[in-house]
Amino acid sequence: MSMRDKVTVQCPKCTRSIEVQQWSAVNGDKNPVEKKKLLDGTLFTAKCKNCGNTVQVGYPLLYNDPKQNIMIWLVYDDDEVKHVADYFKSSKSGEGDNKADISCRQRIVRDSFRLREKLMIFDSGLDDKIVEIAKLAFSQSVQKQNPKEKIAAAFFTNEGGENHVEIYSAGGNAFTVALSDDIYRSLEDTYSGKASYAEDRVYIIDDVWALQLLREYNSEHR
Ligand SMILES: [Zn+2]
Repeated sequence: MSMRDKVTVQCPKCTRSIEVQQWSAVNGDKNPVEKKKLLDGTLFTAKCKNCGNTVQVGYPLLYNDPKQNIMIWLVYDDDEVKHVADYFKSSKSGEGDNKADISCRQRIVRDSFRLREKLMIFDSGLDDKIVEIAKLAFSQSVQKQNPKEKIAAAFFTNEGGENHVEIYSAGGNAFTVALSDDIYRSLEDTYSGKASYAEDRVYIIDDVWALQLLREYNSEHR
């Protein structure tokens, strides 16, 4: 189910037209080539044949992998987020034609980098909720150790089988923190019993979600 359309965009450098192939859906199991392009970022870039310039392109995409039991929708505006959330809700309640497995992990992401990150997390056999908590906890600790830096973003990475969190400051500095199995398991023990952890009708699992869970935990353990 990987339909694709061709659209043209204008090269910002030389103004010539660049043909971009857009995918509306990628099945991680059946489309390994496209999955690889998602992971290396090239599914969302196009090269100008005239001047060689590479442009970033953004378009909505549904990623699913029935073997991993995941469905991730990349959308951009608030209306689309609401639309997908409604679709997810109805699919699990068994309404309509699109019934989803009750254990299916349904996610919404709002840029292609987050989609790529989710894929890496699930490919590493990890739970994105625990990884988001780790990213937030590590960011807070890096912030404490480096009070002059303003932490801007954190990403999960897996290189050579090692799990890490890369933390970037607004000033352009990067900090790498290893996400060891011990830390992962300890976070899982601490947080997986929380009510908001178990809630499966929240589809955007990100730093805002993790912050809320940490606040819930802290208010119970004051
Ligand atoms: Zn060009």
